[in-house]
Amino acid sequence: MIQENIKLVEENIKKACEKVGRDVNEVTLIAVSKTKPYTAIEEALPTGVKDYGENKVQELCDKYEILPKDIKWHMIGHLQRNKVKYLVGKASLIHSVDSIRLAEQIEKEYAKADEIANILIEVNMAQEESKFGITSEETEQLVREIAKFPHIRIKGLMTIAPYTDNPESNRVYFRNMKKLSVDIENKNIDNVSMSVLSMGMTGDYQVAVEEGATLVRVGTGIFGERNYNI
Ligand SMILES: *Cc1c(COP(=O)(O)O)cnc(C)c1O
Repeated sequence: MIQENIKLVEENIKKACEKVGRDVNEVTLIAVSKTKPYTAIEEALPTGVKDYGENKVQELCDKYEILPKDIKWHMIGHLQRNKVKYLVGKASLIHSVDSIRLAEQIEKEYAKADEIANILIEVNMAQEESKFGITSEETEQLVREIAKFPHIRIKGLMTIAPYTDNPESNRVYFRNMKKLSVDIENKNIDNVSMSVLSMGMTGDYQVAVEEGATLVRVGTGIFGERNYNI
């Protein structure tokens, strides 16, 4: 089932790319494996999907230990400063940086290990109260501050759009996010790339791809519903 789901999602990504004339190689599928056992990832691996998303540091580290080392782990959930140290050498991209204090901690831990952290800035495009992330107005300033840290590379932006039954209603947020990234790219800030746009989940990834996503994060659509009670 997992493999069939991945094929379907990949097919949908391809169609979305064709619709707007994008090269399908610009888009990478992140299979969001949070709450799922490592065996679910083992089942997915033969499809060639190498990028997996987790929202808890402990779970990411546990799976990192067990599974093949060529997997790219994405930290997509809210990150507490005291957990940053566990991600060093394990997370290939941290999607959820939304404060200077968190960035300071990342700089400190990665400097200690003489490593570079690849990060995205999390933007709350729809300004939902329940969500983490900064406003689009605050983004350039935060990017400029974090760009000064020698052990951090900003690769782009991430957003979590509102939960909705109608993916079209999120198009405006994805479009504005793309605009924001182009605006910041055009400022040519040293040490900053805006090449990555992490946006789109099970309910809306096709629309996100049409609007320029380079990473889509699909969980339920691949691994099925999550059970938080176990
Ligand atoms: C859980 C999660 C996803 C995947 O959500 P689905 O709707 O199951 O595809 C994507 N991004 C983030 C940040 C998540 O926490």
